[in-house]
Amino acid sequence: MARGPGSKKLILEFFLKNIGQVLESRDIQEASGGAVEWARRVRELRNEEGYQILSHKDRADLKLNQYLLETDVRLPAFARNISKETRARVLERNGYTCQMCGVAAGDPDPFGSSRTVRLTMGHILDKSKGGDDSAQNLRAVCTNCNEGLQNTALPKPDRIHLLAQIRRATISDQKAVLDWLLQKFGQNVAK
Ligand SMILES: [Zn+2]
Repeated sequence: MARGPGSKKLILEFFLKNIGQVLESRDIQEASGGAVEWARRVRELRNEEGYQILSHKDRADLKLNQYLLETDVRLPAFARNISKETRARVLERNGYTCQMCGVAAGDPDPFGSSRTVRLTMGHILDKSKGGDDSAQNLRAVCTNCNEGLQNTALPKPDRIHLLAQIRRATISDQKAVLDWLLQKFGQNVAK
């Protein structure tokens, strides 16, 4: 049991050294120091730590005993333990809008001309500080903010400044703002 964490680290190092290469089960087990539960460690790296380790279930060209790590980019937390239902609830509550920088799902990605913004789940209180995966501790965050591409969270715009911006915007932009607000609040604009 005491060897568990050690073997996981060895397996991860082996995958990271061989990114993009198809690895055989026996080599992974050997790299793990002969751990009996090497397959379980691979699952943990994938499901709990977000490493995108592919198997024959993901790619038809991989055989039963083959694994492949295509990238060292780890999946964001939502793809790990957070249920689809929780994710949907949080996105709806946050109006499908990044709670750090304010972009909405489907907006053009400010960091990639041809992409659109994708939203993911961010923790309000980080897991390392005791935060959990409940809907109350989650918020919609765009992948750029989640990856730290924008160094600082923008301060919330103050009301006077915001209204001034909208007043001097074009009619069509004002209507877009109105559309968005109506969609968000429905008829309950007073709230
Ligand atoms: Zn953002």
